[in-house]
Amino acid sequence: MQKLQQLYEGKAKKVFATSDPDLIIQEFKDDATAFNGVKRGQIAEKGIVNNQLSCHLFRYLESFGIKTHFVEELSPREMLCKSLKIIKVEVVMRNIAAGSLVKRLGFTEGTELPYPIVELYLKDDALGDPLMNDMHAALLGLASPDELEFIKQQATKINSILKDYFLGKDLKLVDFKLEFGKHKDEILLGDEISPDTCRFWDKSTNKKLDKDRFRQDLGNVEDAYIEVRHRVMGV
Ligand code: UDP
Repeated sequence: MQKLQQLYEGKAKKVFATSDPDLIIQEFKDDATAFNGVKRGQIAEKGIVNNQLSCHLFRYLESFGIKTHFVEELSPREMLCKSLKIIKVEVVMRNIAAGSLVKRLGFTEGTELPYPIVELYLKDDALGDPLMNDMHAALLGLASPDELEFIKQQATKINSILKDYFLGKDLKLVDFKLEFGKHKDEILLGDEISPDTCRFWDKSTNKKLDKDRFRQDLGNVEDAYIEVRHRVMGV
């Protein structure tokens, strides 16, 4: 298996073709963006931490029967993955009120939700990733109603697995974003699971240990990413 031409460059990752048409390589960058690309910067070693954590978490989820695009950790910044036709829906799971739930609906930040909430966003930077429901997603032809139901079920299952897992590492999983895609007619979890896509708060102090440190200029951004890796992977 050989790394071939770059297929795509996103905000945090590059994607490369390989000599196997069913496989691609995700290469994780240190670039950080927020507010739909308006705020830009670099977080030292972020690409390494996010790749290592994502590989670890995909392996963990696979052990519970969740099907993911993860194949192999190739290097500190590179993950070998099954190629996906990405479903243009961002699925957000929430356990504690934060971020847009506070800004849009007036929840008090830190309020524990009585049950997890699933939200769907249209994956479209030009439109600013707007919130939508299942009917919008189906009418836009992004996925069938059955596929959307499956995706929401998977996201709910992933949330219950990861919430308990992180709590065992003294981290509250506040909320996170997932992306799914199709590989040979099978829906797999794709993208990454990292402090770029999850909110993590320290279990006892609620200290923010994720990209909110970058978004809100809280400082010690690199340290927070390394701290999450240390708690989760012991390295
Ligand atoms: N999120 C993400 N990518 C996005 C939007 C959100 O990874 O394009 C993650 C974000 O890090 C958080 C969760 O999804 O863990 C919920 O984000 P929210 O809707 O609160 O939006 P934000 O406050 O990040 O704009």
